[in-house]
Amino acid sequence: MFERVLIANRGEIACRILQACRELKIKTVAIYSEADANSLHVQIADQAVCIGPPPNADSYLNSANIISAAVITGADAIHPGYGNLSEDPNFAEACEACGIVFIGPGAEVIASMGDKAQARRTMRDAGVPVVPGSADGVRDLGEAREIAEDLGYPVMIKAARGGGGRGLRVIHNPEQLGAALDQASSEARNAFGNGEMYIERYLENARHVEVQVLADRDGSVVHLGERDCSIQYRHQKLLEESPSPGVSRSLRRKLGEAAIRAAETVDYCNAGTVEFLLDGKGRFYFIEMNTRIQVEHPVTEMLTGVDIVGEQIRVAAGEKLICEQGQIWFNGHAIECRILAADGDRDFAPSPGCIEEWEVPSGPGVRVDTGVTSGSEVSSYYDPMIAKVICWGQDRPAAIARMEATLQSAKTAGIRTTIPYHLRILGNAYFRRGEVDIHFIERRMGLDEGG
Ligand code: ADP
Repeated sequence: MFERVLIANRGEIACRILQACRELKIKTVAIYSEADANSLHVQIADQAVCIGPPPNADSYLNSANIISAAVITGADAIHPGYGNLSEDPNFAEACEACGIVFIGPGAEVIASMGDKAQARRTMRDAGVPVVPGSADGVRDLGEAREIAEDLGYPVMIKAARGGGGRGLRVIHNPEQLGAALDQASSEARNAFGNGEMYIERYLENARHVEVQVLADRDGSVVHLGERDCSIQYRHQKLLEESPSPGVSRSLRRKLGEAAIRAAETVDYCNAGTVEFLLDGKGRFYFIEMNTRIQVEHPVTEMLTGVDIVGEQIRVAAGEKLICEQGQIWFNGHAIECRILAADGDRDFAPSPGCIEEWEVPSGPGVRVDTGVTSGSEVSSYYDPMIAKVICWGQDRPAAIARMEATLQSAKTAGIRTTIPYHLRILGNAYFRRGEVDIHFIERRMGLDEGG
């Protein structure tokens, strides 16, 4: 097992990884930007190294400084968390070149799944259903027109290297296509350094359903069931749950098999997530694979009892997976609310500042993953997510009731949070019936929330 792990991230995920390391008796090194000197993850690590000024590009994306910090402190592995450098194949390669284990899949797999057009081809060739669309990136407008015509409008154009809900556009008619393609492509070039675009049929009433997989170096792969992440604002997830109200036992088996096939096809090792869209007829289609730990992993941990971050570390150290597929049980129901320092009533405008009060009650089946305490500063330099509240219940209504009670008793002051907005989602009649799809926020959270 590793002796010392450097955690190349901040906020709640850095704290989560620190905890996993501590359980495995591994010493920890935190990194921090000048804006984060007083952060919780810095306080609870065994050691901490400042890696640069506040902007992300100068600190948490500064791979040279981060790797130097690992070398200086004698860390034998780096856990990248999510976001930041977690899906940068160059970073994974640089770690390995310095004799430091990157806790995640190999650089080649990260690169091949990071190119979403290539990932689609790989999965299609392996027999995993993909959303109907272009076989490759589109070369020019003429080709894009032809493909869109064949698919039928609406279509979605996507940046091959896109992520985090960016680089996506819905196109309703041929007139929109040219300008949207130009715009999205130049946006993608700026944001991701690559302007390649591909086209998919736009699935109108789909759910976002993703399957958690774990794989070790011996080639054993298990799946830990699905998460329904349909509740999204501008393609960004706000609330996730497992099991999905739209997935039957037999569909779960098929989704799990498809996810395992996807992982095996690319010789996957470590934790990963295979994302699908699920239509109203039980048909599902691969959209992408995330080669890292995801924000919403605790939902699955609550349901299965498997410590996914712990498994990531163990597997990266060469150990075997802790369990086989037959030993994995799905117990009850779990829901996660991503609490943002943002105003849900004003287009999720960020609300940076000092958190004067922060208190979320604990209790049976309640887990709070956070990187803040009372007195913490929410900086406008970083993502506004300050905590995740995860509630487990014996069934879905029990999990909803527990989440409502927990959020109602939460005390926050100094900044705005999405807690009131999450309470509105939980109270929504469609949500309570499990009738959700990826348009829930725009269609069901307007003024008329009845039904
Ligand atoms: P990103 O990598 O930016 O997260 P994804 O390809 O995972 O992008 O898509 C993000 C979200 O966009 C999905 O969860 C879904 O809500 C929506 N989406 C993606 N592809 C389609 C599609 N073909 N039809 C309808 N919605 C889609």
